Formats: sequence, C-alpha cells, structure tokens
Amino acid sequence: MELQCTVQNYDWGKLGSDSMVAKLLSSADSKVSIDASKPYAELWMGTHPNGPALIIDRNVLLGDYIKDNLDAIGPVVKSKFGVSVPFLLKILSIRKALSIQAHPKKEHAEELHKSFPDMYKDPNHKPELAIALTPFEALCGFRPLSEIKIFLTKLPELTEILSADSVSALLAQEDQGDQNILKQVFHLLMTASKDALASSLSKFLTRLEKEDASVQLSLLYQLVQRLHSDFPGDVGCWAPYFMNYLELRPGQAIFLKPNLPHAYISGDCVECMACSDNVVRAGLTPKHIDVPTLVGMLDYGSYTKDELLFNPKLEDENCCIWRPPVPDFAVAKIKVNGDDEPYNTIIRPSPSLIIVTSGSGEICDTEPIPARPGVVVFLKASRQLTLTPAPGSHLEAYQAICNV
Ligand SMILES: [Zn+2]
Repeated sequence: MELQCTVQNYDWGKLGSDSMVAKLLSSADSKVSIDASKPYAELWMGTHPNGPALIIDRNVLLGDYIKDNLDAIGPVVKSKFGVSVPFLLKILSIRKALSIQAHPKKEHAEELHKSFPDMYKDPNHKPELAIALTPFEALCGFRPLSEIKIFLTKLPELTEILSADSVSALLAQEDQGDQNILKQVFHLLMTASKDALASSLSKFLTRLEKEDASVQLSLLYQLVQRLHSDFPGDVGCWAPYFMNYLELRPGQAIFLKPNLPHAYISGDCVECMACSDNVVRAGLTPKHIDVPTLVGMLDYGSYTKDELLFNPKLEDENCCIWRPPVPDFAVAKIKVNGDDEPYNTIIRPSPSLIIVTSGSGEICDTEPIPARPGVVVFLKASRQLTLTPAPGSHLEAYQAICNV
C-alpha cells in the first residue's frame, strides 16, 4: 500500500532542492512544488500522531487501518508491542547542527515522565539508528581520555572556565580511569555561566583565527567556528573536544544506544527509532537544558570512532541489515541491479515500511506500483515485495521492520 508521508520543515533542514527530503518528495509526486527558500528537514514514515502516514488509495491513516486489520501487524509484533507500528522511519536532511542530546533508558524514561510529565511527555525509550545517504557529520560518545587530555592542555580558554583541581585530576587519569572525574569536568562545563562561555569561546576563536592551518586543523577550528556562527556562545561549541567527531561515508551507520551523547551536524541520512519523543538536551539549542538529569544519566565511557560505527550483516546477495540490540526496529538495505532477476524480499514476521531511495522500475505485493525515489509503501507482516528494476536501471530501498 503506497503511503503519503509527512514532511517536517524544521529550521535546521537543508533548503529547497538541496534537501534529500525535498528531492524524494518531488520525485515521488510530480504535483509537489519545492520552495527554494524553505527548509525540508525530515520525512516521517510511520504512525506517530505528530506526522501520521496516509494510505493513498484508501484515504485512510495507516494507524487507523492497522486497528481494523490485525493481520497487518502479525501475531509476533502484536504480542510484544500491541496493535501498532512501534518504530518510526525517517529521512533527515541537515543544514545546521541539531542539539546535542541523549535518550534515557526505558526505566529512566518512565521515571522522568512520571516525575516531570510536562518536560518529558513520553514514557518510552528512544534508541536511534542513523545510516548516511551522503557524507554525514556527527558528534557521538565521549572520546578516549588520551584525546580529551591533549585538547585540554592546548585550550587554556576552555580550562579557565573549569576548576583547576578537576582539570589536573583529569589530566592525571590513565586511559581507563575513573569516569567520575570526566563527569565532574563535564558538569563544570555544563554549569559555566553564559558570560564565561561567550567570552571563552570568543577568546579562543580570535586566537585560532591567527594560527596556521595545521594548528587550526588539529584544534577543529573550522568545525567550532561553524557551530559558533549558528549557536554563538553556546556550551555545545566546546563539545567537539570531549566527543568524537565522525564523518560517515554513505552507507556507514551509527547506533545511538541509551545515554550516549550525540549530535547530528550535517548531511542526509536514513534514521530509524523507537516511536518516542524522549530527548534530554546538552547544548547547541535555544531550548531548556535539564543539567542535573543530563549530567546524571550520560554514558561517560570512552569510545573510539571504530567502536561507534555500527556494521550491517549480509542476509543475501541483495540485502544487508542493521540489527541493533533492541526489539523495536531493524533496517535492511536492498539493492537490485538492472541485470539481476526480480528480487523477492525476505519474509519477516513484522510489518515493514519501505522507501525507494534510488533507481526506477516496479515494486509489487498484490498490485504493481511504479517505483521511483521517494515512493513509500507499507507491507503487511509475513508478506513479500518483489522489486523489478527497469532495464538498464537499478532499485535501492530501505526497509524498516521490528527486530523480532
Ligand atoms: Zn537522538
């Protein structure tokens, strides 16, 4: 069943047809006209009330259809999650950084929602998976301590606004040291005054402007300058010295497990997550930062870049799958070349949301649908979709399912 999905025009989205979201939208439906000055940030595929998908032929919301057609969900998913699609599949097109954030564990999310229902509207956890479609920049997880220590010795402007004792204690740590010391230093950073942050950042950027290119490169000048021009004086501009800076190539992915700090900076990606809004913010945002909750919950473990990359498993010649360690979702990437036989998707005990991201041809469950980038379909549990590329073309699609 072909779906019409919701676009979110958040301010941080890429503009006009620079945006992958806009490109997919206009390719799927030639009646859509793209406004060059408007941000096209996210395409939502799922049943979330803030952006529910519509079944085009039936003119019925997918969420309503499922309630009346239990076979769409299948018994395995129904017994685990109830009558719902427990995940949300998205395309993101990012022009400027999203807030640094972390998502609480399920039990913590329930507690936060109970104690502060106005701030934490959702009791569910929100693990996320992001797969790069274009070169994609992100901050993710705390760096190895050895890297943080090198930065601290080279950044007097930063250490000035922290306590000298805590900084020396951190510098004295071995690589697998006491995570509480890093937590203390991070707490000091998060509670620094607005004035101290603004003046430290401006001092640092003024100094770096005059340094030679190699020093600028080693101290991430371009990145911090970019963050600072979008979020002047924001505590998050100091975050790249504590967090890993990742540049993903198309096809590379990261899994954001609970409490892992992260921020998407730029690029286009496929994102899949448990259906939830649960975000605790840490910077690069005009929104409220709940410092005690944030500092208390974060994962202060050190990660190398390689440890953060999340690799897919090959299922057959045409399909690989990213299976995170949560039951809520997994994402498969399907690629069929023009000279391949038509490809039948693997039968899953779960409903699927599938988006065609490139190529042309036909996709078929019971009725054939012309396939072009941006076409989104819902496939019932335990059914198979046949992908047939047009001669000389190919078909590439992403399929989100429950990880059951
Ligand atoms: Zn997130």
